[in-house]
Amino acid sequence: MDDLEFGKRDKRGDWAPAARIEVAPLFAAPLNALRLIKWLPHYFLPWNLLFAASAVVYWLAVVPPIATLRTLDARWPLWLLGVNCVATLAFYSAFELRLYRQRAQSQRFKYNGKFPADHPNGAFWFRSQNKEGIIRTFTSALPIWTAIEVGLLWAYANGVGHWVDFSDHPIWLFALALVAPIWHETHFFLIHRLIHWPPLYRRVHSVHHNSVNPSPWSSLSMHPVEHLLYFSSALAHLLIPSNPLLAIYQLHYSGFGAVVGHIGFDKIEVGDAAAFDSHAYAHYLHHKYFEVNYGDGLVPLDRLFGTWHDGTPEAEALMDARFEQRRARANTRAGERIPRP
Ligand SMILES: [Zn+2]
Ligand SMILES: [Zn+2]
Repeated sequence: MDDLEFGKRDKRGDWAPAARIEVAPLFAAPLNALRLIKWLPHYFLPWNLLFAASAVVYWLAVVPPIATLRTLDARWPLWLLGVNCVATLAFYSAFELRLYRQRAQSQRFKYNGKFPADHPNGAFWFRSQNKEGIIRTFTSALPIWTAIEVGLLWAYANGVGHWVDFSDHPIWLFALALVAPIWHETHFFLIHRLIHWPPLYRRVHSVHHNSVNPSPWSSLSMHPVEHLLYFSSALAHLLIPSNPLLAIYQLHYSGFGAVVGHIGFDKIEVGDAAAFDSHAYAHYLHHKYFEVNYGDGLVPLDRLFGTWHDGTPEAEALMDARFEQRRARANTRAGERIPRP
């Protein structure tokens, strides 16, 4: 495909989409029904439906029977950890191998023209973005993800939380499934804002931001504290009437879904003439500029707080003006602190 039909490439080889990133019309006022209907397929495809399907597969084929979940021994948690590791390895590697190793579509639709593997960087363990990402994913992200999953399943099996069945409350649970991505984004925005607070940023979140040019294994390349905060969104399912299947969906949305914002390509080509949208640009801009797009635009919180960057030159100018204002304020404060002679 010709990516220049959809965007432009600058002198450095970085590609940007021509179209602005649209905020989901879900919370627009007044509600535009036609826009909403046109947008709905993007809400489900390809990611939400995929993670919902993986949750169903887990519930039917991976999660042990309730009687087993009631007792906390080592076997079933290790089984879940093993499956989570294999599934993550398979899913993340699919993008890594095709787009970054085989480079099957070269730089077409690639936001940053460079491939991280070609530029070893001392900011990372072993000077490798990939190696550090893989180590952090398997030694911290997956154990924490699985521990939360085990805790949730054990709690449900022992009557902690309010487990409701699909046969008794299908509408409530279906509505909850639709809201799960909205909850994910709201929770992510809040914890993300928190860890951009300078003391937490320095100690915790800076690990994730070392990937200025993110690739699939950057997705869960985080400090363990960030992993804990990130996967805690699923605990909400113990506080409201819900179902373990939806708690697993929420975890898959976080665990498998993390890769979505870090693919680094705007479209993933399928064959010669077709491609699907990654929806990765908003989070790519967060990695590039640090202080825009704390969320992905599903819930318009960035708009509300003035940090939304939709990829247009106007948004760039607004961002620059914000940075300039902040710099001026910081200079004033520094000037005030200089003791008078
Ligand atoms: Zn990220
Ligand atoms: Zn951040």
